[in-house]
Amino acid sequence: MTPLYGLANLTASDHYLRLSFTGGGLLAGHPVHPTQWIRIWFPSGGDNLVQRGYTLVDPDPDRDAFDIEFALHAGPASQWARDAVAGDVIDATVMGSKFAVPQPVPPEFVIFGDTASLPAINSLLDAIGETPTRVWLEWQHESDRELPVRTGPKTEVTWVDRAGDGQSLRQAAESLTCSPDAFGWAACDAATTRSIAKSLKSTLPKDNIAARAYWR
Ligand SMILES: Cc1cc2nc3c(=O)[nH]c(=O)nc-3n(C[C@H](O)[C@H](O)[C@H](O)COP(=O)(O)OP(=O)(O)OC[C@H]3O[C@@H](n4cnc5c(N)ncnc54)[C@H](O)[C@@H]3O)c2cc1C
Repeated sequence: MTPLYGLANLTASDHYLRLSFTGGGLLAGHPVHPTQWIRIWFPSGGDNLVQRGYTLVDPDPDRDAFDIEFALHAGPASQWARDAVAGDVIDATVMGSKFAVPQPVPPEFVIFGDTASLPAINSLLDAIGETPTRVWLEWQHESDRELPVRTGPKTEVTWVDRAGDGQSLRQAAESLTCSPDAFGWAACDAATTRSIAKSLKSTLPKDNIAARAYWR
């Protein structure tokens, strides 16, 4: 486990919070890559700790620093983020996170996510630059749609309402038409991710799909 030191509240909406960390050497020996994530151990009553996955935002190994963006809910991780003050320390584990933009670069990316996977999606958009990309993002709170999406010149973003438990996002995947060489990426709640992955598999080869449940 690696301690995270120091912390400053950089930006916030009513349901989203970005905190800044120095890493206690956490980035050493772990090459930075798009969608890179760690497990953070949050207090959960008494001496209990629970682990939750979070994505490194703008990791900078030279400064031993990164940010984390928290979509806020009712759980221990969200509560810790709400209460955090500069100087707080928390433990983290670097997992076997790995992802590289496929080579040759596919003609198009189709991306499905929500505010929990927005940090990962933004890191992906940074990495794929000018490749045509369509992104479908689920919002739960009005302010979600104001969150920055790191669009490139050929990125098209569609926000869909989560009302109906992910139905709109699933329908977008079901009715998707795209190049057979496109790359599909999905990270939402478990059931929605499973459904989107199934739709993508009917259109794209399995090596052109990356899907992971981010929450339940
Ligand atoms: C690889 C990976 C990377 C991730 N990166 C990020 C990240 O950068 N930022 C981020 O905010 N999250 C990220 N997540 C998701 C985050 O780990 C989960 O949302 C986690 O469950 C939050 O923990 P919690 O303790 O706040 O809530 P929990 O105790 O897990 O859940 C409490 C309640 O909140 C609900 N809930 C939990 N998450 C969500 C959600 N996203 N939307 C709506 N309701 C929810 C649960 O259903 C439950 O009812 C990532 C997950 C993975 C696997």
